[in-house]
Amino acid sequence: MAADCIFCKIVNKEVDAEIVYEDRDIVAFKDISPVAPVHLLVVPRRHIPALMDLKQDDAALIGQMHLVANDLARTFELDQRGYRVVINCGKDAGQAVFHLHLHLLGGRALQIMG
Ligand code: AMP
Ligand code: ZN
Repeated sequence: MAADCIFCKIVNKEVDAEIVYEDRDIVAFKDISPVAPVHLLVVPRRHIPALMDLKQDDAALIGQMHLVANDLARTFELDQRGYRVVINCGKDAGQAVFHLHLHLLGGRALQIMG
């Protein structure tokens, strides 16, 4: 756990969030400022600052985060219309919270990225 990390605090239930899924390694919750009708964040329990910090041993974890996103897409009925999975990495991508997270976005037609 990183002392000043908001997502570590959510994972540890020190800060409230609308948690929609959790298992041994992963927690998912609603984004506090949604940019789409469904906007969920899927995070590892372990504090990993960014995508670029992943090691070979984390291959299963990052894969599992995507499988959780797929399950949540089905739960939130996005699977027929489609959805987007985004990971911002670093400053130019606009990463604001430095605890690895995957955005799951859907529920309307999304704009082209970039
Ligand atoms: P990023 O720009 O990829 O780092 O995205 C960080 C996301 O975390 C943003 O979409 C924020 O709205 C979201 N966020 C920040 N604080 C919280 C919080 N306390 N609970 C839920 N989502 C949050
Ligand atoms: Zn953290």
